[in-house]
Amino acid sequence: MMLSEDLAEIKSDPFIVEMMYATKENMLQTAVYDNIGFGNRAFVCRELFGKLQKLAPVLQKRRQKLKIFDAYRPPAAHQIMRKIIPLSEFFAATCECSLHCHAAAIDCCLCDEKGQELEYPTKVDAYTPEYAKQVCQGETNAFQQHLQKARQDYVNPDMDEEIKNRNDLRQLMESIGLEPIAHEWWHYNLPQGKDLPVVDWSKD
Ligand SMILES: [Zn+2]
Repeated sequence: MMLSEDLAEIKSDPFIVEMMYATKENMLQTAVYDNIGFGNRAFVCRELFGKLQKLAPVLQKRRQKLKIFDAYRPPAAHQIMRKIIPLSEFFAATCECSLHCHAAAIDCCLCDEKGQELEYPTKVDAYTPEYAKQVCQGETNAFQQHLQKARQDYVNPDMDEEIKNRNDLRQLMESIGLEPIAHEWWHYNLPQGKDLPVVDWSKD
């Protein structure tokens, strides 16, 4: 595995690595990371890694874990994903646009001590195969409505617990200097991550 020395791998407690594109449990229903030989591994740039290390004792104190669903995304994987679903609603148009390809973003959620995911307004990555299919056929209404629930500002009096968990996650991530994005509660960026280069990876 050739990867830049500027990256570090997240692999120990209190972090759980379950990369969604290493299995078929994603909107593509294809294990893209596995198919290209990358597998279930979570790499991030050293600066982001350092920030996450600061979170470890806080998580331990709270008796919680952080489950990582996506981190560094090899450009080869991104290109395959774009080919399967060529819509910018789902995947950034180019690797330059996705901070995952710069190793400067993670998709994550808080879990309890046993690794059970807490409740949120949507699952991590609200994009399902059903919505992907609809949108590819030009039906966007149900999808757009569903995406409201993925927003950081989504409110619903019947979802107190879910919204509290979303806000807890945001507060923790902001406490280590990461930035939320408005439309995906599970996605966090390293500020100025775009200044880092897209990291290339190839199997050999
Ligand atoms: Zn993301």
